[in-house]
Amino acid sequence: MIELVLTACLAADPAVCATHLLPQTVVVSQADCEALAGVRIEAWQKQHPDLMIANQVCETPDITPLPVTEVADGIWMHKGLHEIPTPKNAGDLANIGFVVGQDAVAVIDAGGSRDVAERLLVAIRQVTGLPVKYLVLTHMHPDHTMGASLFMDMGAQIIVHENLPAALASRAETYQANYGRLIGAQRMILSNVVQVDALTTGIAEIDLGGRILHLAQTPTAHTDNDLRVFDDQTGTLWAGDLVFAEHTPALDGSITGWLAALDDLREFKADRVVPGHGPVSLPWPEGMEDVYSYLSAIAQETRTAIKQGESLSQAITHVGESQRDKWQLFDEFNARNATAAYTELEWE
Ligand SMILES: [Zn+2]
Repeated sequence: MIELVLTACLAADPAVCATHLLPQTVVVSQADCEALAGVRIEAWQKQHPDLMIANQVCETPDITPLPVTEVADGIWMHKGLHEIPTPKNAGDLANIGFVVGQDAVAVIDAGGSRDVAERLLVAIRQVTGLPVKYLVLTHMHPDHTMGASLFMDMGAQIIVHENLPAALASRAETYQANYGRLIGAQRMILSNVVQVDALTTGIAEIDLGGRILHLAQTPTAHTDNDLRVFDDQTGTLWAGDLVFAEHTPALDGSITGWLAALDDLREFKADRVVPGHGPVSLPWPEGMEDVYSYLSAIAQETRTAIKQGESLSQAITHVGESQRDKWQLFDEFNARNATAAYTELEWE
């Protein structure tokens, strides 16, 4: 694997630098990489006036591949950590992976930074040299999308729910600032919220050669832009963050919508589900029961609190406590979920 490797520093703060790949769609030789480097760097620099190039070289990158597991034939998944984003974990928090067809590769979710995406690319190159033609983003959250620029630089088509561009545009500044504060300025170099004009929305199928992935948009549930993917060759369903296991769910859409989406999905015929967080493969539909129980409990306890005249600040002290022992990162997410549920359900 020979790639163009750049070291880029912030124009505004030249002490903050990061080394990244500027890969091509196809695998290239050392000579081809060197022949094209000048033109590619020039084009790249125009797109990134905020960065200065400190070094550039064509070489085998010194990047540790993300650990991946083949959960079904040609489907490789990496398990994200159950942590809050930090400079050390670089936002490696979501389950991300790739599907290999006869002609092309589709990546499903880009990880929480350019570093995570590049580690995924190195893992892909250990499995196949086929071009990465597609990146599907299951929804807008930074732990799933901040690595997207890598695949855009490779010329991959970015496929998302039709609501995602607007949802992301309205949050881009907050994500850039708040998420950036968590993973740090160095990790944020090239870790951008995806540029909406380059996205393709509403595509129903992707053909990887001998393998079709089917995409389906979900009405507002975990977010208002949840996109699921199904591979009928292996019966594998990517639920994105419609399904959480182990890691406390995060409600950023609608609790009633999410429960309704899971009720619908329960009837869907699949052999396994790939959750957005938790084990990279679970049996279906059993794999959704934990998140379903959690959301049902939150909804029921919130309705009881509202009926008893409790204020929001009273309700969030106890709503969800019955679920505490079953989930990791409970204190980081539950109060926010209880707040979102109360705000939604008080108008029922
Ligand atoms: Zn999410």
